[in-house]
Amino acid sequence: MPIEELINRAANILGSARHAVVLTGAGISTESGIPDFRSPGTGLWENEDPEDFTIESFNSDPQRFYRRIMPLLRVINGAVPNNGHLALAEMERRGFVQAVITQNIDNLHQEAGSKNVLEVHGSITAGTCLSCGSKNKLHEFVDEPACSSCGGVIKPDITLFGEDLPPAFQRAQREAMRCDCMLVVGSSLQVAPAGYLPRYSKNLLIINRGTTPYDEMARVVIRSPAGEVLTGILDALDVYR
Ligand code: NAD
Repeated sequence: MPIEELINRAANILGSARHAVVLTGAGISTESGIPDFRSPGTGLWENEDPEDFTIESFNSDPQRFYRRIMPLLRVINGAVPNNGHLALAEMERRGFVQAVITQNIDNLHQEAGSKNVLEVHGSITAGTCLSCGSKNKLHEFVDEPACSSCGGVIKPDITLFGEDLPPAFQRAQREAMRCDCMLVVGSSLQVAPAGYLPRYSKNLLIINRGTTPYDEMARVVIRSPAGEVLTGILDALDVYR
């Protein structure tokens, strides 16, 4: 089916929804230059070992952890929202989207103007000193990961593998259960438990280059770049309200 038709179908379902939520993953931010985990050739897992990003790995050797994650932190620190983030923020502003649930840690939805953002894996915009409890902003520890107040070890305010999810995840579950349309953007839906959220959804729309375990359940699947598709859906929504 031509992409224009898929975009129109997605806009039709989203435009008719009473309560629509979006679930985003690392794929929405690749067009801002931030690598995802699983894209063949460019994903972080091509060169990095997921075991280096566990809470055990951080606790046992924070300096080693920072050496592994620093290139990603530097890219995120310099990244700006792309057309996909901007289109979602505009959909919320116009009342088509009620919440954005994101697995991302990069703060780009908020920078684009989205208001109701549920960060289910935390945010890299700050870190907490394990010695004195001070909050340090990303730009303060992106080059030297030591507390600006006491020199202590900073734990980034993100959920590492092996850690409990923040309270935002419960709110995300409630949003997923009450919505009558869920738009998934740029997620392989392979990281649990956030990847399970689409199972609650009635009218599932998926924009993702690669396949997901929920493709069969979805009413529309679009395998094209998120920025272009979301901009197209936003334009097509003009006729709905
Ligand atoms: P993932 O890497 O498992 O999947 C990303 C998916 O996005 C892939 O299936 C890929 O085909 C698709 N994709 C990539 N670029 C795309 C584009 N331009 N348009 C459409 N689809 C595109 O990522 P995930 O499902 O989010 O799960 C992995 C974890 O990665 C999350 O927990 C998240 O916290 C973490 N992560 C976040 C960032 C970030 O904050 N930007 C970056 C890397 C990893």
